[in-house]
Amino acid sequence: MKFSTKAVHAGQEPEPTTGAVMTPVFLTSTYVQEELGKHKGYEYSRVSNPTRTALEKNIAALENASEGMAFASGMASIDAIFRTLNPGDHIIVSNDVYGGTYRIAKMILENYGLQFDFIDTTVLDNVINVRKPNTKMIFIETPTNPTMSITDLRAIAQFAKQYKLISVVDNTFATPYLQQPIDFGIDVVMHSVTKYLNGHSDMLGGFVATNNKQIAERLRFFQKAIGAIMSPFDAWLCLRGTKTLAVRMRQHCESAGIIAEWLTKQKKIQKVNYPGLKTHPQYDLAKKQMRGFGGMISFDLGSLNNAKKFLKNVKICSLAESLGGVETLISHPATMTHASVPKTDRIKNGVTDGLVRISVGIEDVEDIIDDLKYALSKI
Ligand SMILES: *Cc1c(COP(=O)(O)O)cnc(C)c1O
Repeated sequence: MKFSTKAVHAGQEPEPTTGAVMTPVFLTSTYVQEELGKHKGYEYSRVSNPTRTALEKNIAALENASEGMAFASGMASIDAIFRTLNPGDHIIVSNDVYGGTYRIAKMILENYGLQFDFIDTTVLDNVINVRKPNTKMIFIETPTNPTMSITDLRAIAQFAKQYKLISVVDNTFATPYLQQPIDFGIDVVMHSVTKYLNGHSDMLGGFVATNNKQIAERLRFFQKAIGAIMSPFDAWLCLRGTKTLAVRMRQHCESAGIIAEWLTKQKKIQKVNYPGLKTHPQYDLAKKQMRGFGGMISFDLGSLNNAKKFLKNVKICSLAESLGGVETLISHPATMTHASVPKTDRIKNGVTDGLVRISVGIEDVEDIIDDLKYALSKI
């Protein structure tokens, strides 16, 4: 089956007792057992729930993975992935990852003995040089948030195999429609399904997909032991979202391409970061490992003051955290998503005070451009 067919059908068996075509929301905490030790595969909803199972099979199929685990949020899934390791283990992480990934590593997990190095993973030599005898995992984001830099998936997968490390990709920005890291040899893919996979900004969720049965078993044990699982209702909402992922992504990509080109022609904008622009430093790599360039763009207005004025004057673009919904969202990474990153690190990673990030929605692109044009005129 090809991608869009899987998006609609994978894991979506008609419900056996009624024939309901759409998987119902199984709002139940527990399941009756016929006799001691005999049940239909479900015992308690922290362990598993049929609506969650349907979503787990669906997204795993989209990532070409055999195993899928849905969590309460993207952060819950990142926490679970890192904690498959042990105190004293070292993890290499891309330096401009999602702010929350940095926060959980530095402010929580380091206290439990995990060690992290945040480096520019777009340069393979950096990765090789920072590896230590106790390195057990490499966790990358590509494209990164919010500067859209691209890391070579195949090179990272090879590096990880050579040194027996677990390779993890946060695939939230690209989605499996644009990029399937497992096909490049990556071990584990995670998502904030809050973003594109759900696509409608009405739930929070996280996901881990892998072909590694050992890791999957450990993560399922975490779901049961810790309970940071996705609720049946959120799983049901997300199942509505994944069915239209392909059509939404095509529109996000098309509109973002047009807007990125338009932004490069505006005199008040100093720099536009979009992997689909030929000026992007890893344009060729993006073309090689992605089927499209996505819906995320960031651009630099030069100063905090300019960014403030601009963001005060947008109307269709809503000033809000998050991304990946049908509506266009605009944000200011330095004070919003990346506020927990120390200023010197932040600037070094290109998250300047004037940087604005836009998640291009599926509205008419002319209306989005008019909105941006008006806000620019107010600077
Ligand atoms: C939002 C996001 C996360 C965190 O996910 P939540 O669902 O908000 O917990 C992780 N990584 C990336 C790239 C994100 O955009």
